Amino acid sequence: MGCCGNKSGGSIVLPTVKQVGKGVVGLSKVIFQPKQLTDAMITERRAICKECSESVKDPLFGITALSQCRLCACVIKLKTMSATEECPMGKWKAVNQGKGVRERT
Ligand code: SF4
Repeated sequence: MGCCGNKSGGSIVLPTVKQVGKGVVGLSKVIFQPKQLTDAMITERRAICKECSESVKDPLFGITALSQCRLCACVIKLKTMSATEECPMGKWKAVNQGKGVRERT
């Protein structure tokens, strides 16, 4: 499942109505579906997001529970747990499209 959204230069990314709806669906998948990713895959995805210039980071703690991706406005901690999610820049892929983590570019 791909992401789309508005790019924002600010530290807080306000999601569109479409993104909020998508987020609710994605959150329900993470909560109610059996785990489809290994801890290593989730950790690798988060490491990629942590280094990405499009992630909103806390100056002291880096990626937090509320950190978002500026491109899709998704909460990174949740997005990286969903097998059907993928990076809008193609840095990591959905599991159902091949593999959960793609090599860093
Ligand atoms: S999902 Fe992709 S674009 Fe967004 S913060 Fe993570 S690596 Fe960067």
